[in-house]
Amino acid sequence: MSIQSIGIAGAGIIGRLVALELRQQGHQVTIFEQDSIGSPPSRCELAASNQSMPIATSSACSYSAAGMLTPYSEADTAEPLVFQLGVASLGLWHHIVEQLGREVWYRKGGTLVVAHSQDRADFDHFYNLVRANIASTAELVTPIKQAEVTDLEPELGPRFSQALHMQKEAWLCACCTMAALFQRLIAQGVSWYSSTSVVEVNPYQIMIQTPAGLQSHCFDWVVDTRGLGAIKQQPNLRGVRGEILWLRAPEVNINRLIRLMHPRYRIYIVPRRENLYLIGATQIESEDRGPISVRSSLELLSAAYSVHPGFGEAQIVYSDVNLRPALPNNQPQVIYKPGLLRVNGLFRHGYLISPAIAQEVFKMIGAQGDYQSPYQDLFHHQSLEEASAQ
Ligand SMILES: Cc1cc2nc3c(=O)[nH]c(=O)nc-3n(C[C@H](O)[C@H](O)[C@H](O)COP(=O)(O)OP(=O)(O)OC[C@H]3O[C@@H](n4cnc5c(N)ncnc54)[C@H](O)[C@@H]3O)c2cc1C
Repeated sequence: MSIQSIGIAGAGIIGRLVALELRQQGHQVTIFEQDSIGSPPSRCELAASNQSMPIATSSACSYSAAGMLTPYSEADTAEPLVFQLGVASLGLWHHIVEQLGREVWYRKGGTLVVAHSQDRADFDHFYNLVRANIASTAELVTPIKQAEVTDLEPELGPRFSQALHMQKEAWLCACCTMAALFQRLIAQGVSWYSSTSVVEVNPYQIMIQTPAGLQSHCFDWVVDTRGLGAIKQQPNLRGVRGEILWLRAPEVNINRLIRLMHPRYRIYIVPRRENLYLIGATQIESEDRGPISVRSSLELLSAAYSVHPGFGEAQIVYSDVNLRPALPNNQPQVIYKPGLLRVNGLFRHGYLISPAIAQEVFKMIGAQGDYQSPYQDLFHHQSLEEASAQ
């Protein structure tokens, strides 16, 4: 394999994992990122140690994610491509986290999907959809009764007479992972241009803005991973608003991911360290980055309270709002042409699917574009007409 020089525009979760994969295979990697630092203070650590939380300093969606790696419990709505990438990535995350070391907060406890008795129809509908969509691995989604719910989560047993257990699912702290990836990439010799605004990404070339004017950097390959920041060159991108709340709840003791099926307010509860729980998330067709609305707060909090009354005494330590980068079909896509890969549209699954996508990007570059991916719908080979229409 020949060593290639690779330029990467944008260092969200996919940019960092692509850089890690390529650097580990020996390529020379340069990252251009508009944020001033590669690893702002971890919100998780600040919140756990009772320090005040910063106002968001980055527009990167990857800092706002709940970090759930949950292909099975997303399988009611996610496309087969997302499910396949998600299952492959679950295994890959174990290795990545091992390499990154103990500063990444990572748990493999699985998910419990629950519903209140009056919402039984929603629960059954969800289970039927999941079973239909993941037929060959349906045994990894196990219906359990109240006694088993109590064994797994003693504080939830009295409230839920049944649940679905997705035992293979995992989750991690997004901000710790972003920080650990930054440290790892720097230690491995990746060149990192921070506070650098990329103006255009073209085959073999990344154009950046400098005080002296535009500057061109040339590479054997460039990878555009700017998320929503790529919208000028990918006008079919859109942002989908997501709101999430961070609670400190000493009266709650839950150790697994919880998803509540509900006719109107479906929520998830993500346990983090020191009695912290993330309650999320809304999905609203809006590109407004303004603070969380009263309505969203009420819905998230009342649903969480209905799962466990201990949330009534919780403190709200942080609320976060960000825009998920999405394409019209809500699926990820890698646009390919010689010298350029544009990886985008990770929507609500960036953590779930990025490790497998990063491997595919590496294989495509290694084969100089002559690679048949097993994920047929992932790559889109851009024609000359499409390219010139942009
Ligand atoms: C509330 C919420 C909860 C979520 N929970 C989950 C979850 O549990 N699991 C999951 O898998 N996904 C989750 N997601 C989705 C996930 O966060 C996204 O899919 C993912 O972060 C997208 O990553 P990205 O790297 O494509 O984009 P981004 O994270 O947005 O990264 C793009 C990077 O490019 C940089 N950039 C942009 N423009 C420029 C420019 N011109 N020059 C230089 N740099 C530039 C940005 O600063 C940024 O660092 C959640 C999202 C939200 C909002």
